[in-house]
Amino acid sequence: MKALVFTGPGLVQVDEVPEPRAGLNETVVSVARAGICGSELHGIRQPGFRKPPMILGHEFAGRTPDGRRVAVNPLLVCGSCDKCSAHKPQLCRDRVLLGVHRAGAFAERVAVPDSAIHELPSTMSWEAAALVEPTANAVHAWGLAGGVSGRRVGVIGCGTIGLVCLFVAQSSGASALAAADVAPERRDAARRLGVQEVGDALAGEFDVVVDAVGVGATRAAAMDHLTRGGTAIWLGLAAPDPGINGQALVRDEKRVIGSFAYSDAEFVEAISYAERLDLSWVETFSLATKGALIFNELMNGRPLPVKALLEP
Ligand SMILES: [Zn+2]
Ligand SMILES: [Zn+2]
Repeated sequence: MKALVFTGPGLVQVDEVPEPRAGLNETVVSVARAGICGSELHGIRQPGFRKPPMILGHEFAGRTPDGRRVAVNPLLVCGSCDKCSAHKPQLCRDRVLLGVHRAGAFAERVAVPDSAIHELPSTMSWEAAALVEPTANAVHAWGLAGGVSGRRVGVIGCGTIGLVCLFVAQSSGASALAAADVAPERRDAARRLGVQEVGDALAGEFDVVVDAVGVGATRAAAMDHLTRGGTAIWLGLAAPDPGINGQALVRDEKRVIGSFAYSDAEFVEAISYAERLDLSWVETFSLATKGALIFNELMNGRPLPVKALLEP
C-alpha cells in the first residue's frame, strides 16, 4: 500500500510499504481522511518522540472491514496504571500515540485496537470526522479550565486547535470570545466562526485564555491577558520556553494548566461538536500525488489551508 513516510529530519516521502497487520483485538481501518497536525510539522524537524522511518498521522477517520464509518482515538493507554485508574488516561504511564510511537494514518490502511474505534453518525462527512481528534483536545482543555459558560474567553493562535477551541467555547456559552493570530488568513477563519473580536494580539482581560501556539511569547501573552484569579490553558507545544512572569502569577493568583490530549469520553463528546463545525478552512489533498508536497509547503510556512487533510 502507499503511505507518506517520515524518513529523516525534515523529510517525508510517499513510499510503497507493507500492509499493516492487525494484532490481537485489533482491526485494520481503511483511512478515508487524515489531517496533518502542527505538532507533526514541528516534530519532524528535530525528531524527538517520532523516530524515522515512521508513518505519521493521528487525526483520522475511515472504514472498518465490516463497513462501519469510524473515528479512531489515537491515544492508546494501558488501562491499569495509577493514572488510568484515576480516570486520567491522557496521563497514562505507558501511553502510545498512533502516528507518533507506532504506525499512523498517512497510509491507505492502519492497524488500530478495537477499543480505539468509535462509530460515526451516518450523515457526518469524512472532513468533519477527521477533525474529531483536534476537537477532543478543545473539549479537554475547557474541562480543565472548569468550563467556559458565562466566562470571558481568549484564544491565542487560530490554527486548527485554536479554531476548534473557539467553536467549542462558543457552543458552550462563553460570554465573550476573542481570538488572536499573526496571520491574516487565520484571523479570517476565526471571523468566519463568528468571533467578533479578532486581532493580531488579544486586547483586554479574560477569565480563561488558551495558548494554542506554545512559544514563550504566546504563553506570556496568555498570562498577561488574564484577570486576577484567571486561568491560562497551555495547549501549544511549539517550544519549551515558559516565558512567564512568576511574580505576576503569585500576586494575581493566576493559574496555568497544561492540557494534553483527552479521555475516551471527551473524544466521543467531540464527535457531536465536529459534526457542526464550519469547514471552510479545511482542504483535502491526494496522499499519493500531493501528500509530500503539501506537507513540505506547510512545514515551510504556507499559511493555507489552516487544516490540510490527506485522502489515501
Ligand atoms: Zn494533532
Ligand atoms: Zn495507564
